[in-house]
Amino acid sequence: MTYENTLSYAQAQDQQDPLRKYREQFYFPQVNGRDAVYFTGNSLGLQPKAAKAAIELELEDWANLGVEGHFEGRNPWMHYHEFLTEKAARVVGANPLEVVVMNTLTVNLHLMMVSFYRPTKERFKIITEAGAFPSDQYALETQVKFHGFIPDEAIIEIAPREGEHTLRTEDIINVINANAGSVALIMMGGVNYYTGQAFDMETITKAGHVIGATVGFDLAHAAGNLELHLHDWNVDFAVWCTYKYLNSGPGGTSGVFVHERHADNADLPRFAGWWGHDKEVRFKMQKGFKPMRGAAGWQISNAQILPMAVHNASLKIFDEVGMKALRQKSEKLTGYLEFLINNINSEGKTQSFEMITPTNPKDRGAQISLVATHNGRGLFEKLTKAGVIADWREPNVIRVAPVPLYNSFEDVFRFAEILRENV
Ligand SMILES: *Cc1c(COP(=O)(O)O)cnc(C)c1O
Repeated sequence: MTYENTLSYAQAQDQQDPLRKYREQFYFPQVNGRDAVYFTGNSLGLQPKAAKAAIELELEDWANLGVEGHFEGRNPWMHYHEFLTEKAARVVGANPLEVVVMNTLTVNLHLMMVSFYRPTKERFKIITEAGAFPSDQYALETQVKFHGFIPDEAIIEIAPREGEHTLRTEDIINVINANAGSVALIMMGGVNYYTGQAFDMETITKAGHVIGATVGFDLAHAAGNLELHLHDWNVDFAVWCTYKYLNSGPGGTSGVFVHERHADNADLPRFAGWWGHDKEVRFKMQKGFKPMRGAAGWQISNAQILPMAVHNASLKIFDEVGMKALRQKSEKLTGYLEFLINNINSEGKTQSFEMITPTNPKDRGAQISLVATHNGRGLFEKLTKAGVIADWREPNVIRVAPVPLYNSFEDVFRFAEILRENV
């Protein structure tokens, strides 16, 4: 890819962009009387304009039908989660049996660990990446304690080498092999939220299975960002939220993947509720839990219609675009951002930026994490005033995510200009 540092180049790229029309389908926050440079879709995706009508439809059915909406609604609530399953499965490269939308992310991580973290005296360790998102750290820590083990002994965190910011796959594999007899579970992010590094999930899964461990991923920063092939990669389980790249609103619902080979394993321990029970006999209200096949058998409660309505509206857009096309644009867009930042660095100003995100497109998604050489916080505040909505992470990282579904090459260019003016 050869990029150019001009507005006309950026605008020409937008003209040729096959996905350019999707920008119009989202609301952009307004700053200083114009669209913000919104580079925080990795934290909270923008609102699809279709979201409101989707919620209103359900509110109307509720108003008009009351409880009958479960069966008589235009989208009968009784089956509501099923309307999302196939589309969600396509986003993560799964078959529909393997996916269900339910609950929220960390809750689902716990539910998956109930089934897939089954420590024994010899085999009780969990391998994860150092600096994982805090919620995941707390989930691992408390699951380990729940089973009577000591977190410091049971949790192995893989850290980058001295002087490096990201993990080498070979180092991950070495840690897996070095602990072959004692690891029960490998549980990592698909994309690390801080560095933006995308892990080689296929290779990690293979290595985990060779030593007899189960392998799960938190895809909070990967779903709707990378092309995923969870089924083919043979991942045991995965969880993701829908409010980041999947634009389904604050506190939105979550997705779960359970590989097909576990679909009929009723012996897996699980925390059950009526929505996971065989739906043919659910309303017989009888004793004795009999799980539905596949991921649906992990449901506990009846579907949360309002957040799911938004998620469904957003998933329709993903279905139309497809992850392949999205990823193609994403690589170009993030590459352009990297190019423009390198340009600023080459101008010899006192302030420069270290990019801690991998430079190889296959090792990252739509995010670049920048470390400013000095006064990063002050710089971040100036960017915010100038109309950039990005994300500050202590102690010194600015995360920017040009999201291919609604960000443009012109956004990237404007961001770089604002950055240049403020260093
Ligand atoms: C965003 C994020 C979360 C948030 O968890 P919730 O349960 O949705 O509040 C958890 N883990 C990771 C890796 C995240 O990026």
